[in-house]
Amino acid sequence: MGDAIRAQVLVVGGGPGGYVAAIRAGQLGLDTVIVEADRLGGTCLIRGCVPSKAFIHVAGKFEAMREAADGNALGLVLEAAPRLDLAQTVRWKEGIVDRLSGGVAALLKRAKVRVIQGWAVFSDAKTCSVQTDDGALTIAAEHVILANGSEPIALPGLPFGGPVLSSSEVLSLQRLPEKVAVIGAGYIGLELGIAFRKFGSEVTVVEARERILPLYDEQLTQPVRKWLEQAGVALHLGAKARGLVNGAALAVETAEGAAIEIPADAIFVSVGRKPRTAGWGLERMAIDMNGSFVKVDDQCRTAMRNVWAIGDLVGEPMLAHKASAQGEMVAEIIAGHRRRFDPATIPAVCFTEPEIVTAGLLPTEAAEAGTEIVTGLFPFAANGRALSMEGGGEGGFVRVVARRDNHRVIGVQAVGTHVSELSGEFVTAIEMGAVLEDVAATIHVHPTLSEAFHESALRALGHAIHI
Ligand code: FAD
Repeated sequence: MGDAIRAQVLVVGGGPGGYVAAIRAGQLGLDTVIVEADRLGGTCLIRGCVPSKAFIHVAGKFEAMREAADGNALGLVLEAAPRLDLAQTVRWKEGIVDRLSGGVAALLKRAKVRVIQGWAVFSDAKTCSVQTDDGALTIAAEHVILANGSEPIALPGLPFGGPVLSSSEVLSLQRLPEKVAVIGAGYIGLELGIAFRKFGSEVTVVEARERILPLYDEQLTQPVRKWLEQAGVALHLGAKARGLVNGAALAVETAEGAAIEIPADAIFVSVGRKPRTAGWGLERMAIDMNGSFVKVDDQCRTAMRNVWAIGDLVGEPMLAHKASAQGEMVAEIIAGHRRRFDPATIPAVCFTEPEIVTAGLLPTEAAEAGTEIVTGLFPFAANGRALSMEGGGEGGFVRVVARRDNHRVIGVQAVGTHVSELSGEFVTAIEMGAVLEDVAATIHVHPTLSEAFHESALRALGHAIHI
């Protein structure tokens, strides 16, 4: 029989869902405990969003240096080809991760949240036990916030191990693989596949569907497709990965039904993630499920009173900012605030080459919903800032989608270099109910990429200036 503690709020999982919920609960004066088995920060900080973007940053720098060594139009000259020390890249990335994880610990401490390290196993909906370094600990709480997150999906016939890697192992490789086969052309597979191509690996992408990034329309993904082709990334669409051949090749059935082998010293399986629902006593909590996800209502309440669930555990979109927004909301509801999870949109970014931003409805989605729309598209080829950053010639653009009747902006998408930083403006316009005339009447700084948003609204209104 070990120690026992009680709390008003018990949070399980220290990812962007759980740690934000715990900080907010602490800020609101709730006696809060958070349990995390690994380092604080979860998938996002430790082996997801941030490490992958660090890799992408280094890959971009390396590519620019290689281009300088080859001689380029910018007048930059490198006398010798650059060399990549991937082990050092990984150490640098780990430094960022340590800093962020330490920052989360400091924020939790400031909010007076007790942090328990270990794996929580529930015996009933409000009680769990944790095997800590100091022995067994039982925690009972009035409210439980489940933020257990998600884990990579393995393919049948291709279990993780050896050359078959999930994103976690890919982000910790010590040596650059010569030949990388990426299975899955979703955002995680493409982001990292593109980074490895920039590092100099030969990259082949195998995707079961007929398109890359199948959640987006062709117009939006075309510039990424073009980059992949120009960079020499082999794409097998409509193809199925069948298994490993002698530990050194991937067996693939092509769209035409041919059996081929793709030589690879690293096979990166990136076919999606599944909620982490096993191994911690979920079955003892009398909670309803929604398919493989925990079922919640629009306040993130589960079927069990005072048990809440957030983030990747409860469904798509599996994104860090959604998890955090839900975590903040749940803490506030527990503290007595009136809140509901009802965002106008949850924006998303693919940090591909070039980047893609989506906020709100695509034109196709608006049409499916029966909404009559007007759209305005402004190409970065006509934007001075994009051209001065070498981002004008890649077919990028900003596209605004508005209701035809009242001009309310219901969607904004962009593809192009550095467009991820425009996502805030897009989502603010949608969330605040802007109409095209609001965007058109807002003076945007010159020269910036954001001018393309302004011009897209002008174009939807029929009077763009620069096109
Ligand atoms: P997680 O971050 O998965 O955290 C759950 C935590 O709970 C884990 O730390 C786990 O150890 C802990 N845990 C689980 N069960 C227990 C238990 N029983 N006891 C103790 N601890 C437990 N999202 C974006 O928004 N932008 C991006 O650019 C982006 N890039 C990504 C890149 C990659 C390579 C990957 C893999 C993911 C990326 N994501 C991105 C997705 C993002 O990481 C997740 O949506 C986000 O981390 C979900 O947060 P969460 O709090 O729900 O769960």
